[in-house]
Amino acid sequence: MATKTSIPSSQSPKLSRLRPQYIPNHIPDSSYVRILDTTLRDGEQSPGATMTAKEKLDIARQLVKLGVDIIQPGFPSASNSDFMAVKMIAQEVGNAVGDDGYVPVIASFCRCVEKDIATAWEAVKYAKRPRLCTSIATSPIHMEHKLRKSKDQVIQIARDMVKFARSLGCNDIQFGAEDATRSDREFLYEILGVVIEAGATTVNIADTVGIVMPLELGKLIVDIKDNTPGIANVIISTHCHNDLGLATANTIEGARTGARQLEVTINGIGERAGNASLEEVVMVLASKGDHALNGLYTRINTRHILETSKMVEEYSGMHLQPHKPLVGANAFVHASGIHQDGMLKHKGTYETISPEEIGHKRTTRIGIVLGKLSGSQALRKRLEELGYDLKEDEVDSVFRQFKAMAEKKKVVTDVDLKALVSHKACHAESIWKLGGLQVTCGTIGLSTATVKLVNIDGSTHVACSIGIGAVDSTYKAINLVVKEPTKLLDYSLNSVTEGIGVNVTARVVICRENNHTSTYAFTEDANYPTFSGIAAEMDVVVSTAKAYLVALNKLLRWKESFRCA
Ligand code: MN
Repeated sequence: MATKTSIPSSQSPKLSRLRPQYIPNHIPDSSYVRILDTTLRDGEQSPGATMTAKEKLDIARQLVKLGVDIIQPGFPSASNSDFMAVKMIAQEVGNAVGDDGYVPVIASFCRCVEKDIATAWEAVKYAKRPRLCTSIATSPIHMEHKLRKSKDQVIQIARDMVKFARSLGCNDIQFGAEDATRSDREFLYEILGVVIEAGATTVNIADTVGIVMPLELGKLIVDIKDNTPGIANVIISTHCHNDLGLATANTIEGARTGARQLEVTINGIGERAGNASLEEVVMVLASKGDHALNGLYTRINTRHILETSKMVEEYSGMHLQPHKPLVGANAFVHASGIHQDGMLKHKGTYETISPEEIGHKRTTRIGIVLGKLSGSQALRKRLEELGYDLKEDEVDSVFRQFKAMAEKKKVVTDVDLKALVSHKACHAESIWKLGGLQVTCGTIGLSTATVKLVNIDGSTHVACSIGIGAVDSTYKAINLVVKEPTKLLDYSLNSVTEGIGVNVTARVVICRENNHTSTYAFTEDANYPTFSGIAAEMDVVVSTAKAYLVALNKLLRWKESFRCA
């Protein structure tokens, strides 16, 4: 492949256009589209994607580099850990004002319940631009079977709760109509009119179950604009799910017909089949905004898309399919002879978006080379370039591991570094750490593992177990110490670098094996939250043990902090 080339100016992100001044209920430039990222709230609701508060903070900082207008970092009433994450992000990220005055709005999610709203405000009020996003279902099926409330009752609750949010001192209030796309039109106009009068500044139209088509969503937005009292004084938002693979298309149609806030997630993670993906929506606007969408634009710095995508992939444990648009491993790889021939003659033959524009590097091997002679400054710089904003002692700690790795293998790649950092982040709050491991395995005799685990209180615990192979005996030995019944749902190994001196990344997904179910779901099915762990080491069994501990620690922390459904 060719070396790095300059990007045609016509494809550059439109950063020459300024980000309009932030006013909750009004955007001074009618072509500007706000991006609300809900990776840390709806995205985290993906099965297996539970993130620690520290991981959320890292991602929030990365979202700032990306320039998202609004970050929705969590649902404070759901757990202590989410409360802490929202508070920490509001305090740190929500107060870091850029040179151009940009500071993201921090949006705290809550149901239309007084206690939820008060808790959400308690967590988010520290931000320079705090927002409360309160939501209630408006469709007949949800009101009748889930809320068990009449239309009048739901309207009353919505009005009271928006007023309550305002009474706390919040002047940026988003009202979400859950399952709006299956709601009765007249009722929707009425309830939106009521919350606007009560003080809502953004109204969110959620396609909660991912059932509409672009044509239908566009018509809905137009109808809302035509029939809702006071709608001209607020921002219309969309929140689309991907159950039929239409989330991006629906979101774009929403913007085309008048929505000026789009709710999206990195890599499209989220409940069930996920949400509209930030990278797809933003790149559609970047490449088609001028030609097909009347000049609509965002201020997302698209060059940071890829590194953000990678960070979310690692922290959430949600692996990308290779053919994921824009950020998948194959998204810009041309395999057939005819295509390659065309690409060599002119890139425009098969490439309409330049990969550099979203942060890909046009090299076969990505990244600069760090080795055992590299110093901590080089490491710090590279980590910054990769999107990690680490404190002094964190860099020192990564540096020690980096040195140890560089002793064993000649070149430490970006992928290795990311594995090291995500490993650290995961371990920031760990209850159990691996103190030592000894495994005997093979075809003679039983596989035996001895593990030494160090508890957060400093105590050391040793256990020994036999099992079917090295991994099984190791997990059994860990279980003897931790005593938390778990079920292994998924286990995979990836060698991330070439050659014999490889760093092996292990990924495990576990769930609790007992009768305690969470009650997020409205179904009667048991809903087991799942937890993933990733770890990279030179030794396969060691990385496997560490990955298991990462997942176990998340599970234990979750258990501690889970207060209500
Ligand atoms: Mn959702």
